[in-house]
Amino acid sequence: MPDPVPFRVAVVDDDSAIRRLVRLFLKRAGYDVVECTTGQEARETLTKVAWDLAILDRRLPDMDGVVLCQELKANPDYRSRYIIMLTGEDEQEDKIEGLELGADDYITKPFQSPELLARVRAGKRIVDLQKELMETNRRLELLSITDGLTKLHNHRYFQDELVRAFEESERYDRPLSLAMIDIDYFKKVNDTYGHAVGDEILKGVANLYRESVRATDLVARYGGEEFAVMMPETNLEDALTFAEKIRALVEETPMQTQAGPLKITVSLGVASIPHSKIHTPKEVIVAADKALYRAKRNGRNQVQAEKRRDVNRTTQAAATGS
Ligand code: GH3
Ligand code: MG
Ligand code: MG
Repeated sequence: MPDPVPFRVAVVDDDSAIRRLVRLFLKRAGYDVVECTTGQEARETLTKVAWDLAILDRRLPDMDGVVLCQELKANPDYRSRYIIMLTGEDEQEDKIEGLELGADDYITKPFQSPELLARVRAGKRIVDLQKELMETNRRLELLSITDGLTKLHNHRYFQDELVRAFEESERYDRPLSLAMIDIDYFKKVNDTYGHAVGDEILKGVANLYRESVRATDLVARYGGEEFAVMMPETNLEDALTFAEKIRALVEETPMQTQAGPLKITVSLGVASIPHSKIHTPKEVIVAADKALYRAKRNGRNQVQAEKRRDVNRTTQAAATGS
């Protein structure tokens, strides 16, 4: 099966005959080729187009190929790319220096196509392995910050992001809000319908939260049945509006489970900065948690802010008749 993305070889040489020859060999072997005639051109082109392996002439008109090689290898984006230096036959010193300065291999001019292709193939094996490794690392990294059940971000990621957002918010004097959401009487759901149904409900509410937040918000599974939503650039009033929207949405959305549709409710605690008594990310969490605790104590299925203020909009709306 061919690679979904063709393997691209950059050929940097001022000698058009050599470029043509290398291009011919490589194209016939199924590689994509991009050509540059000078070091400066390579500098510009190789930052714009994707490439996997470069064949650099040691003697370029405007610079030593080794300098270009060093530059390319110094770029963290290119560290995994493979570089083959092209050197003259009697330039033993050049080969050693080239390898010491970051080249992965060298080819001596004049060269035969089997040798060129064998060296490119060897390079491709290494580049492919490196790509695989990077992809595995990326997947592991994602796994380490994702909650397995709900696929939301996990506690660890949330903590890190809250610290980052808190600092940013303080530095630029911008508001930041946090809502902690906890399912009401969830233990009873588990006891009545079993853990598997409980898990389905957790997934269901996670999806509701995920669909309700803005792209700049961060929603995470904070613990067992407790979720956290971080809202940058959001003041307390707007955060309370959001929290009330979530509360009402959960109340009116039966969760689809193997035991049939089940109705649940949630309680929410909201805290925001700037706030005279909140100076650390941890204190934001404590404040939101305290508000959540108050929402529970007050009868559940409601929103409370860190200030002692009843913010259940449903109640307010009913009271004012609006
Ligand atoms: P409250 O209204 O005060 O929040 O009551 P509650 O029953 O929801 O709260 P409590 O803390 O007493 O119970 C939380 C329950 O959440 C207990 C635990 O078994 C359940 N739980 C935590 N993690 C999971 C999970 O991953 N899956 C399931 N099914 N249940 C979980
Ligand atoms: Mg040359
Ligand atoms: Mg609960």
